[in-house]
Amino acid sequence: MSFVIVNIGSNLGDRRLNLSRAVRALEERFGYFELSHAVESAPWGFDSTHSFLNIAMAFHSDDEPYQILKAVREIENSISPASHRTPEGGYADRVIDIDIVAIDNEVINTPELTVPHPRLSERSFFLEPLNEIAPGWIHPLTGKSPLQMLIELQEGQKTQST
Ligand code: ADP
Ligand code: MG
Repeated sequence: MSFVIVNIGSNLGDRRLNLSRAVRALEERFGYFELSHAVESAPWGFDSTHSFLNIAMAFHSDDEPYQILKAVREIENSISPASHRTPEGGYADRVIDIDIVAIDNEVINTPELTVPHPRLSERSFFLEPLNEIAPGWIHPLTGKSPLQMLIELQEGQKTQST
């Protein structure tokens, strides 16, 4: 049985409705879950006037990691099949995006699935909700807790802006 943490984001349309549709579908598929508050943030890695809402959700699953990814992508597609990328390959506005943040302390490094999520430590909209629902989870590669990563990210941002 693995402990799975996903992050669900939306910056188009009725964002709360989009998030709740994803939560409901994940709950139907995986059962027991824990949910964070929604955090609002400016688009990360691209320019857009539409800000994001992100939440973290945790559940338990007996499925293999790639089965979990498949389920997540099917749920994404059922809510909105639109691509998350521009034709040039950059990030784009999206109705729904479900990223797998972590599966227990597994380390997987393939293009189809990388866990822990490779940009976890750079994104406060991943770290804040993660800290809320899984403060005891430790990054298997760095040994850091969500709070440690969050503090380091904020320290880094302060240094950059001075
Ligand atoms: P974005 O990087 O903006 O989330 P997509 O949602 O279109 O873009 O995902 C691109 C690809 O990332 C997917 O095809 C998926 O197989 C792959 N991927 C790799 N690692 C992960 C992960 N941890 N969670 C979700 N998708 C992942
Ligand atoms: Mg994604």
